[in-house]
This record gives sequence, structure tokens and C-alpha cells, in this order.
Amino acid sequence: MDIQKLQKAFEHKGYVFRYFDTLKQCCDYLDTAIDGVTVGLGDSQTLMEMGVYERLSLHNTVYSPMHPGAGEDFYSAAEKCTHTQVYLVSVNGAAETGELVNIDGFGNRVAGSLYCHERVYFVFGVNKIMPTLQEAVDRAKNIAAPKNAKRLGKKTPCAKSGDKCYDCSSPDRICNALTVHLHKMSRVHAEVIVIGENAGL
Ligand code: SF4
Repeated sequence: MDIQKLQKAFEHKGYVFRYFDTLKQCCDYLDTAIDGVTVGLGDSQTLMEMGVYERLSLHNTVYSPMHPGAGEDFYSAAEKCTHTQVYLVSVNGAAETGELVNIDGFGNRVAGSLYCHERVYFVFGVNKIMPTLQEAVDRAKNIAAPKNAKRLGKKTPCAKSGDKCYDCSSPDRICNALTVHLHKMSRVHAEVIVIGENAGL
């Protein structure tokens, strides 16, 4: 992985680029950079593995659909994430040419990555990085989505076989929108943070 090439590509797209060797180093950085604000988390295995909810909750107001509060569920917690100052999310695929790809079923993750926040942090491991945008899209559709369907116990053909997307019509389908960030969105401070470890699916 040529980190300098990656940095150049994402900086060209308007992002602040950071690289950390480990999940812990990344979490330490986020813990320092995000303080005294409201924070929303996209449901993400990478953020879960990092323990960012636990760390940031000590000195921020953090909402997470994967950590619903008393009387809340996934959806009500996700709703609160849409109006925070800061949003953290991972990606299902990233291209060495500087694009970010996400697939979503409910829409909270992609919505949070696009609009309504002062700062957005895209956090992902090197396993998400592919040479081209097409390969990043393929990764999102045929690797990340089936693995996530299986993890969530969905009744979909991909969850049974785990080998690829079958473009199903299942009520359990988790792939209802695919977003490609071609460039940083306008009027937002956005950082791309790459971790030199495998993280998430
Ligand atoms: S569209 Fe259906 S088969 Fe394809 S990855 Fe999504 S849930 Fe699985």
C-alpha cells in the first residue's frame, strides 16, 4: 500500500488525510480531536472494534444506533445521529483514486455521511482499499454486503452462501442505496482516516 499516493489522491478530493498504524492510535486521535460536542455514529464494525463510542462518550454527547439508550431502539438512536455536530462512519470500499463507497439498507449511514454535520470522519482499515472505483464498488456489493448480511442473521441468499451478491428481492435485503463520494461534500470539514490494520467487514 502506497500511503503517500493514497494521501495525494484524497487530498486532491478535498479531504484532510490521516494515517495510523493501529486502531488504538486512531482512537487516541479521535479522542483528542473530538471534545465537548454532539457526535453521531454510523453503525460500523470498525468503530465498534475501535471502542470509539466508549471513549468519546466520556467527554461528548454520543448517539449510536448500535448503543441505543434506555427506551430507544436502533431507529430512534439513528435519528438522533442525523442532527449532531460531528459524524463518524466507515466505508464498504475505498478506491486508491480517492473515492469512497457505502451501501446502506435503512439510509442512516449514507445520510449522515452526506449532510447536516459540521465535521465528518471516514474511518477504515486497509482491507477496504481497492485500486479502482469499480473494484471498490464490487467490494461493497460482493464482499462487504454479504458478510454484513450474514453477521446480522439476515434471510438472504448471500448470507447463506457468503460468496457474492444475488441482487435479491428479500424483505431482509440490506442493499437499498449505494453512495459514491466522488469528492468531499461542500461546506463540511471531512477527514479520511486510514488504519494500517484490517478492520470491519
Ligand atoms: S442485494 Fe440481497 S443478495 Fe445482494 S448483498 Fe444485498 S442482501 Fe445480499
